[in-house]
This record gives sequence, C-alpha cells and structure tokens, in this order.
Amino acid sequence: MKKYNFSAGPSILPQYTVEKTAENVLDFGGIGLSVMEVSHRSKEFVAVMEEAQQLFKELLDIPDGYSVLFLGGGASMQFAMVPYNLLNKKAAYLNTGTWAKKAIKEAKLFGEVEVLASSEDKNFTYYPKGYTIPEDADYFHITTNNTIYGTEIREDIDSPVPLVADMSSDIFSRPVDVSKYAIIYGGAQKNLGPAGATFVIIKNDILGKVDRAIPTMLNYQTHIDKGSMFNTPPVLPVFASLMTLRWLKENGGVAAMEKRNIRKANILYDEIERNKLFKATVNPEDRSLMNVCFVMNDEYKDLEGDFLKYATDRGVSGIKGHRSVGGFRASIYNAMPESSVQALIYIMQQFENEKTGNH
Ligand SMILES: *Cc1c(COP(=O)(O)O)cnc(C)c1O
Repeated sequence: MKKYNFSAGPSILPQYTVEKTAENVLDFGGIGLSVMEVSHRSKEFVAVMEEAQQLFKELLDIPDGYSVLFLGGGASMQFAMVPYNLLNKKAAYLNTGTWAKKAIKEAKLFGEVEVLASSEDKNFTYYPKGYTIPEDADYFHITTNNTIYGTEIREDIDSPVPLVADMSSDIFSRPVDVSKYAIIYGGAQKNLGPAGATFVIIKNDILGKVDRAIPTMLNYQTHIDKGSMFNTPPVLPVFASLMTLRWLKENGGVAAMEKRNIRKANILYDEIERNKLFKATVNPEDRSLMNVCFVMNDEYKDLEGDFLKYATDRGVSGIKGHRSVGGFRASIYNAMPESSVQALIYIMQQFENEKTGNH
C-alpha cells in the first residue's frame, strides 16, 4: 500500500522524480550505463549539472552575478562554511530553533556572534520581530523555515549587511527575491531531492573579505571557479534534484507551488482549529506552510499514542512530532498532493468522532 508520507526529511518527492531516477539508475538516457556509473566529466552528466543550475536560476529568477553550487556535507556543513568564508570580526544571527542554534555554535568558532533575537523563551513557537541589524556585522544569518518547530518567515527582509539564509525546508515553496540575499543554502532532502546534495546560491562578489586561509574544499571560491565540478559532485542526488526541478517547471514553478502550499496548509490548520482534540503550537502569523505542528488539547493529552496508531494504521507515515516539541508534525512539502492532506484531515475527523461521538 502506498503511504501518505508526512516525513520531515528525507521526505516526499514527486512521483515523477522517483520514477525518472529509477529509470536512469538502470539506463541513463539510453546510453546503456547507469547514471551512477558514468564519469561526472562525461558530456551526459555535465549536461545534467548545467541544466540543474540553469533551472535553479530560471525558477527562482536569480539575477546575474550569482552562482548555483551542489556540494556535499549537508546544510550542517554550511553552518561552518558560511563563517569560514564571511566572518571577519562579527556576525549577527537570529535564534529561531535547533538548526539556528547549531549554526550559531559554528560561527562562534570564527569570531564574535551577536544573537539579535531569540524565540527560545516560548520554545520557538513564534518568529522574532522588532530587532535591529547592526551595520558593522559581516553578515546576518536567518533560518527562514524552522523545520522542527513549524515557524516560517515568508517575506524577504531588507538587511543593511549581506543576508544569509538557511532555506533547507522551504526552498522552492514560494517566489524569493534572491537579490536580497548573499547566500541561500540548504540540504536537498526536504523539498528538492534525496539526501546527499547541498544547494548553495551565492553572490559571487561577497567573497575575498576575510584574512584567514580557507581549506580548498571549504572555500566557496573553489566551487564557483569550477562550476561546482572541482571534485566529484553528488551525482545521483543532483540527477534526482534535476528531475524535481523539471517537475517544478512543468507544474507552474514557484508561484503555482506557493498557491498550492497556502491552500494545503490552510485546510490543515483550519481543521486543527476546528477539531476538539487538537491545537496548533505556533502563533497564527508565524505558521509554516511546510511543517504543520500540532498537539492534543490538554483534556485529551492521553490520546496522543492512540491517534498516532490510528493514523499509522490508515497509511499515514512520519507525523510523530520532533522530540523537542512532542505531538505531531505533518510536513507537507511541494510534492505532497492536496488529496493526501485531505486524507489526513478525514482521519483526524474520524478519530474525533470515535472519541467524542461527534465533530
Ligand atoms: C534538515 C535541516 C538542516 C540539516 O540538514 P543536513 O543536510 O542534515 O545537514 C539544517 N537546517 C534546516 C532548516 C533543516 O531543516
């Protein structure tokens, strides 16, 4: 039975991506070799890399002067690469959750870190506002979507210093004004492809401002100079990501995704509000379109395990909340069809009926 995959990551991919990748693992574009078996310098794979970079630029309307890289190491490696390449004296960060904290920890190895605001006082259930970005910071780092806590900022803020964003879990979920950012990075495995590739969109002219020596592989300049082919890139994850990029284009691009994502998230949050058993954990104005976090209402707390089993028995996979929040988290990335969100809603309603006799 095909499951409803609400996993936070690695997570649901378009069926198109899964099928096309499987086909090309067996026979890459009809050349009689697997896509896993060919040189990354072959003309066939070079074409894959170039099309993936080109579609990034097209779908996100990336201005001239930026490069698109596919690196290894995950978003977690970027937590160190960003300060390694950009932090001369001081960097500014927002503390919006687990991933932001990990980014802050790495930056502190390289210089002074000013945490401008934090939502930790309320277990990261809101997105901080009303802070001032210091003009003497080398850059300002934010996490646009907090995958674990389900908060998201969906506007592109103005920053007087280079803006760096971890968009691991909301890239391609909405149009982005890339010109406002110096670096946008993320692991592929939330909204783009399988684990193993890390995308980096980087403004070429922000580099060369730190004095330290940077190891070759950790230096963005290395990868920019070689078109993301300095060493062997993650070939198969890049191929699968290209399939998703084609699917995105075919399905109307990021503007169409945003419309769908708003609709999907709205019907689910509406049900959480309506349903007597559940409540959302995040402030309405900061709720993520990608990761919908909810818990049992206090008087129904002891039904948590029951609901998880009830949903699991009906084909729902991956909705157990992260251990630091508890409850449930439905990750409804681009590839999640509205019909699957409706299936979850129906299951929530049936469960309510059984437990309370009505809904
Ligand atoms: C998953 C996630 C990460 C970590 O990604 P890795 O590729 O596993 O290192 C970092 N930031 C955010 C926002 C994430 O959702």
